[in-house]
Amino acid sequence: MSIIAMDDLEQQCWECNEKGTISDEACPKCDGKGYIATALGQTLLDFFKRHSDK
Ligand SMILES: [Zn+2]
Repeated sequence: MSIIAMDDLEQQCWECNEKGTISDEACPKCDGKGYIATALGQTLLDFFKRHSDK
């Protein structure tokens, strides 16, 4: 079993430099979060969404 690091799930947004905003507007690249989910992170998000709505 391999260990998943946070870096494998998300990365700093290069568009807003992790701030989440660009000139006081929410960064469109990361949706104001400052981080962008990687392909693996997105896969996990989809998984949790699918299994967590009870
Ligand atoms: Zn951003």
